[in-house]
Amino acid sequence: MRKLTSNIRLRHAVIATLVAFVVGLVTLLRPLDIGVWTTQSKFFDHSASGDIVFVEMDGSKFPSNSEQNDQLAEVLGRLADSNAETIVVDLPIKLSRSDRTNDDLRSVLQANRNRVLLTRTVRSDFHDSETYSETDPFFTRGMPQVSRDYQTDFLGFVWDIGARQSWDGAELESLSFAIAGEDTSRSFVLPDYTIDPATIPRISALDLKRIPATDLRGKTVVIGEAGPNSVLVKVPDAGIVPSSVIHIIGAETLKRGTGYTAPWIVFALFAIALIAGAAKFKKDRARRLFYCSWVAALLVVFVLSAKFGIRITFSEPALLGAWYAMLRAIARYKRRHVYIDNRTKLPNFAALQRDVENGDHGPSHAIVVAKIARLDAMFANLPQGERAGYLRQIASRLALGDSGTAIYYDGGKYFAFALKKTPDLDLQAHLEGLRAVASQSIATGDRALDVSLTFGADEGTGKPIASRLSSAIAAADQAREAYRPVFVISELEENGDTWDYSLQARLETALSEDRISIKLQPQVDLRTGMIEGAEALARWVDEERGEISPARFILQCERAGRLDELTKRVVLKSLRAASMLGEHGHQPKISINVSAIQFVDNRIADLFEENLRKFEVDPASLAIEVTETARIEDFRSARDVFEEIRRTGIRFSMDDFGVESANLEALFELPFDEIKIDQMFVRQLASSSRARAIVSNVVRMAEESEMHSVAEGIEDAESYRLLREMGCRTGQGFYISRPLHLVEFREILVLQNDSLRPKIQQG
Ligand code: C2E
Ligand code: MG
Ligand code: MG
Repeated sequence: MRKLTSNIRLRHAVIATLVAFVVGLVTLLRPLDIGVWTTQSKFFDHSASGDIVFVEMDGSKFPSNSEQNDQLAEVLGRLADSNAETIVVDLPIKLSRSDRTNDDLRSVLQANRNRVLLTRTVRSDFHDSETYSETDPFFTRGMPQVSRDYQTDFLGFVWDIGARQSWDGAELESLSFAIAGEDTSRSFVLPDYTIDPATIPRISALDLKRIPATDLRGKTVVIGEAGPNSVLVKVPDAGIVPSSVIHIIGAETLKRGTGYTAPWIVFALFAIALIAGAAKFKKDRARRLFYCSWVAALLVVFVLSAKFGIRITFSEPALLGAWYAMLRAIARYKRRHVYIDNRTKLPNFAALQRDVENGDHGPSHAIVVAKIARLDAMFANLPQGERAGYLRQIASRLALGDSGTAIYYDGGKYFAFALKKTPDLDLQAHLEGLRAVASQSIATGDRALDVSLTFGADEGTGKPIASRLSSAIAAADQAREAYRPVFVISELEENGDTWDYSLQARLETALSEDRISIKLQPQVDLRTGMIEGAEALARWVDEERGEISPARFILQCERAGRLDELTKRVVLKSLRAASMLGEHGHQPKISINVSAIQFVDNRIADLFEENLRKFEVDPASLAIEVTETARIEDFRSARDVFEEIRRTGIRFSMDDFGVESANLEALFELPFDEIKIDQMFVRQLASSSRARAIVSNVVRMAEESEMHSVAEGIEDAESYRLLREMGCRTGQGFYISRPLHLVEFREILVLQNDSLRPKIQQG
């Protein structure tokens, strides 16, 4: 059990890993990551180095380009005088109408060519490139330039700045990398937003004159647009900043030596850990501890990666954990609710199937079903509150048979359990013993309640559990309290000639889909030649195997404990046929075959009584042909059942009289109304004088005992004539007619009624 649930756990871990991997691959959960990264940036605050100063110019404050250019030239001059090491003009310089201003600015730029960098946009960015204007070539000529590109995500955040951007075959270094002052071979930097943008020194261009020149010596200065015209970018935890600030944060990140990423490695580690843990930890406590550590580790990685400025996508491990938790929760829910009977809190039959499928009860176990007889009547007198107790007591008694075994309860009349078979276990005897113990009356409150159980067991191997369980249930149904309370469908039988696995499976389907039909074989009054009735014969045409002989599938039904089910269907169909014929003004006698072993209790009587009422058929037009009378062990109880049925008006016929299964003792003991002489004698009437002697004597005996005589298996005119001469009353056989479909049978009845000479020799 443990081993396999842990396998299911392992399966869940692997499924969760795959789901998280695929979702991670298509970056479906990027918004989650962005949320996480934003949160991370709040965890730690690092200060900027202060080596990079942002000088803000507000273009909107200048009435024209020439005044702005004048201001820029002045700022550049001042910065050059202060000995700033690098000066970046991160804004587009436009030509003004004043040539003098243009020339002045250009000469300041040219004079400081070794320390001034201009910026430009290289790549088209998703959102912003069209809003950028570029510096006029008049100013850029001969000046070094760097790229001011970065990529924003759909929310306007920048997570990634490449080291270089190519342009027109040439490559430009990125502004961040150009001002970082670090020699680096890195190809990108992920801005580290734990660096607080507020700590970047920021001066308005207009205030520059108030700053002592020494403050700027050796510094890197980025002059950028900061007014309403500036391009703005979002920074987690700091709102909106001018785009230049992003590059300064990029440069500060490079200086700090952070801004790396660990893309799949973290996910891989967490996935491997989860899979290994799911497989390894079998004990609930250990496993819970492991889950906690797993989540804790994720939190630690969350904090550490924030601290060390390493960008990790948390959505995949988080999804992995969440998915796994969900799968486990569903499994747990099922275990708690789907597999438990609510009233008794015992595991139900779905749980049995699950446990067998999980390998808890292997093929070496017999599936045993115990059925409580007359439970409805018992419960009628038992208060609601005491019912669960009664059922639980039965369950605990059943568990005595194999201590510790789980008892499953279907919520109705059936309990089931798996019983381990050992070479010296006599299952039949064992279950009879268990039944004796479990059937002691149960005391609840102040009264003693009877327990009446029948047992069915399926010893077969190799079949799916659902089929084993239903055959054990059928066996428990088939078992009779008085006659055979424990019914084991044994392996021996299954492996013998009489058992056919695939036939059994097909038979189950045929029964559940109601595909067993009947044919009617006419019986004629031998004196008049008129059809007086028909025998209903079960027919099963299997899609693959064609027509299967009733002799074969009826035996199989009996072995599988499905005989009651079959009889029920044949009786229903026969009565429906009788009722349909009645509606058309015919009332032939319909004979229905029932095996003698079914007369051990009242079930067969109930079946007839119920359906007589339902179909409103005259019982006098019905006969039950009892087959295999030799198998009756207890004539007394069989007689009781006979009598009960006879009281309704239905008559009894003894089938196959004269051969092994039908003997004089049964004829003597039971109140039969009719003798059906077996075909073995009838077929040889013409050829054997001994057969003639036997048949004529049986006919006479029937006459003298006031029984009706029927001869079956009449295949030729000679036998027909002989039987009539002997005084046999009714005849049946291929010479008269083969078994017919209901409509065919009705047709010949119509023809006969029309006083036409019946044309009845059909196939
Ligand atoms: P049965 O009750 O003795 O039925 C007579 C069998 O003899 C039928 O075979 C019928 O088709 C066959 N038969 C009738 N006339 C002739 C003839 O002139 N020549 C020959 N050679 N055979 C003839 P079927 O239908 O194969 O049934 C075989 C047995 O299966 C039945 O013997 C009966 O014992 C059993 N059976 C059939 N239907 C049912 C049923 O609904 N319930 C039960 N318990 N047994 C049934
Ligand atoms: Mg018969
Ligand atoms: Mg017969």
